[in-house]
Amino acid sequence: MPVEGLFQPLSGNAMPRFGGVATMLRLPLVENTENLDVCFVGVPFDLGTSNRSGTRLGPRQIRAESALIRPYNMATRAAPFDSLRVADVGDIAINPYSLHDSIARIEEGASALIANGCRPITLGGDHTITLPLLRAMHERHGKVGLVHVDAHSDINDTMFGEKIAHGTTFRRAVEEGLLDCHRVVQIGLRGSGYTAEDFDWSRERGFRVVPAEECWFRSLAPLMREVVAQLGDGPVYLSFDIDGVDPAFAPGTGTPEVGGLTAPQALQIVRGLRGLNLVGADVVEVSPPYDPYGTTALLAANLAFEMLCVMPGVLYRERESTFRSSCNVS
Ligand code: MN
Ligand code: MN
Repeated sequence: MPVEGLFQPLSGNAMPRFGGVATMLRLPLVENTENLDVCFVGVPFDLGTSNRSGTRLGPRQIRAESALIRPYNMATRAAPFDSLRVADVGDIAINPYSLHDSIARIEEGASALIANGCRPITLGGDHTITLPLLRAMHERHGKVGLVHVDAHSDINDTMFGEKIAHGTTFRRAVEEGLLDCHRVVQIGLRGSGYTAEDFDWSRERGFRVVPAEECWFRSLAPLMREVVAQLGDGPVYLSFDIDGVDPAFAPGTGTPEVGGLTAPQALQIVRGLRGLNLVGADVVEVSPPYDPYGTTALLAANLAFEMLCVMPGVLYRERESTFRSSCNVS
């Protein structure tokens, strides 16, 4: 039920879901985060990609696919719009001719969005954008814990000699002291590397590394209970590279790797973060030119909605009677 003073997504009964302006979740488009608890912001950027590009088109496609999402979460009973003020603040204007200027613009834009305590959910964009986002988080919150879902560890020192690229993000974040390294978890890593020790750099920094192989054929709910216990009460950032999910579910990305997470496991990861002090989140690496049916953007849109549903302060419409679960699930 609508609450006065809070924004509601435009109903499919007021305007068909295929009509109207394509904002995220059909929320109002606003100019700044004044009085907002959570905002959706796009970063249409792909200057940091190493293989297939196209993530500059990600925010628009994610917004378009989000039109089908309704306000209540039927699995978790989250009712985010009944307790939080949420809107779409549009895109950060990157400079398509300069990676470095773009990085500065993203940090400046993110800092402005979070200055009053608003928690941003960012629609990428390639994974380079998480570095300036983490810089902005650090300015406000100090070192943050991190849940990083990805096929790749993104801890290269350089790529083609460059320090800033989509595969160097978390090495730079560690070097710059942005992360609380003993509260960092990387989930879904897999594939081939340049050396057999590639993922050990993360482990040596104190990260928990959960390779995709350890996730195969399993519920990730138990893992997420451990993650929540490890991350504790401090600020946490979630960075979700869509290529953490298997290309069967998320083909529209630049550096696909086989043997990845399933779509249900991706939902379990995000839902499993409930209760943490999530200060911001992103979903990155959606590349619409490689996503002919919108499958990848649809998953990304739903993951962004699930991120909203685990933000602090979300109301849950808990069951009032004692229905029995229809099967045993952990
Ligand atoms: Mn990545
Ligand atoms: Mn990746």
